[in-house]
Amino acid sequence: AVAAEEPITPPVQINHTQLLINGQYVDAAAGRTFPTFDPRNGDVIAHVAEGDAEDVDHAVAAARKAYDEGPWPKMTAYERSRIMFRTADLLEKHLDEIAALETWDSGKTYEQSANVEVPMLIRIFRYYGGWADKIHGLTVPADGLYHVQTLHEPIGVAGQIIPWNFPLLMFGWKVGPALACGNTVVLKTAEQTPLSALYVSNLLHEAGLPPGVLNVISGFGPTAGAALASHMDVDKLAFTGSTDTGKIVLGLAAKSNLKKVTLELGGKSPFIVCEDADVDMAVELAHSALFFNQGQCCCAGSRTFVHERIYDEFLEKARARASKRVVGDPFKKGVEQGPQIDSEQFKKILKYIRYGIESGATLESGGERFGSKGYYIQPTVFSNVQDDMVIAKDEIFGPVQSILKFKLVTNHPKHLDKKKKPLSLALIDALIDNRNLDEVIQRANSTRYGLVAGVFTQNIDTANALTRALRVGSVWINCYDVFDAAIPFGGFKMSGNGREKGIYGLNNYLQIKAVVTPLKNP
Ligand code: ADP
Repeated sequence: AVAAEEPITPPVQINHTQLLINGQYVDAAAGRTFPTFDPRNGDVIAHVAEGDAEDVDHAVAAARKAYDEGPWPKMTAYERSRIMFRTADLLEKHLDEIAALETWDSGKTYEQSANVEVPMLIRIFRYYGGWADKIHGLTVPADGLYHVQTLHEPIGVAGQIIPWNFPLLMFGWKVGPALACGNTVVLKTAEQTPLSALYVSNLLHEAGLPPGVLNVISGFGPTAGAALASHMDVDKLAFTGSTDTGKIVLGLAAKSNLKKVTLELGGKSPFIVCEDADVDMAVELAHSALFFNQGQCCCAGSRTFVHERIYDEFLEKARARASKRVVGDPFKKGVEQGPQIDSEQFKKILKYIRYGIESGATLESGGERFGSKGYYIQPTVFSNVQDDMVIAKDEIFGPVQSILKFKLVTNHPKHLDKKKKPLSLALIDALIDNRNLDEVIQRANSTRYGLVAGVFTQNIDTANALTRALRVGSVWINCYDVFDAAIPFGGFKMSGNGREKGIYGLNNYLQIKAVVTPLKNP
């Protein structure tokens, strides 16, 4: 770890701080602004227009008009696709500035912004730009003399509410498929990170996006966010954020016009290291599964389950790896971990660390703030974590790794009765039921969440058995955090509903119309 020094000056100008409504940057109707802060020291970066219900009304009216009267859904799909491709080119051209803005506003490392997140945003625009002119319905063989077809139509005006942990990626996951399918959008960014979406949206317009198709509101959840979720003219709501807020917006959608809702919420994801795993690889991936993005990931591997036979070795290596993690100014080369997003999260994480110590978990490394300025926290590792401890149940959303020990292995061939039929996929569920050995499955599933899981083993039967038994939306086997644009992502249980990315992500922004025509007139 390096000592905190004077913050490096970000290599970017801030050009856009107003709301984006109908293709124009405008002040909030009430004239209010709010500050956005630099997580490195808590200084104000900029004052940003604060959107409220009235601004949401204006934005929804613009999106409504662009949808109902065109041009957006009436343009050819090819034209829409070309605007998305041109956007991707412009994002590439301005990659450095965009990455700098993202790092400045969120505290994530510049290397991560520039090498991972902006490239993934670009990839999402190309991926969904590619889909725009390939979305079509089916011809359906129905009983009777009918010609039946389905039309895959856009839903209309999509309201989108995104969080602060991946401002640009969430922008891409939301806006990309919505536009590809021909919807218009009102997006509310998180109050902690309004800047990058305002910058990038300007590029969409430079690429030829007509006014009103994408509107961006900066502002707070209970005001601007709630106004969007309860708006009568919004046809669809896509939300990413905490499970508690997900419940609120789902309620607002239900109470207003029953707009269609997709939710991507929290997690407490198991990272399961079996006794036959490659320990060094598992240590490194468990480390990045938890500490990536300062631990501020809905899919963080926040319960590291390690088999008892390799537990001591794993623990020693995990502790050593965390102690070596380089914390510091996120603009500095080689830094792996920047500050947490804001003082609220900072305090909350330190509180969870105290809970961990008080509940009897063993603090292996870290445990305190890092430096004396800003919202930096030492990479923290707890061992001897028990399932019923608060740190094993709540989403901490910070750089705090919890290591838990488990005993039993699933479905290792040596457990199988050789005289029985060979192992097939269909048999695996039965095997799981028949054995009373699935301690780790039961513990991994005993959470209200169900977002992702990591499985580390050399044995394909163990991998198959765990994969089928885990109630989660993604299983990463001997890998973690693989976020290709084509791979669907989303949660089981209270981690949400709907899938983003990939072909499945289109479903969130399409509705199906069945059209029936008699084959011959009576
Ligand atoms: P966090 O607690 O990590 O900030 P939230 O789920 O509260 O996560 O925030 C995610 C997004 O939801 C942000 O854009 C935030 O402004 C918005 N939000 C928060 N509260 C509400 C609410 N009551 N109605 C609508 N949106 C909200």
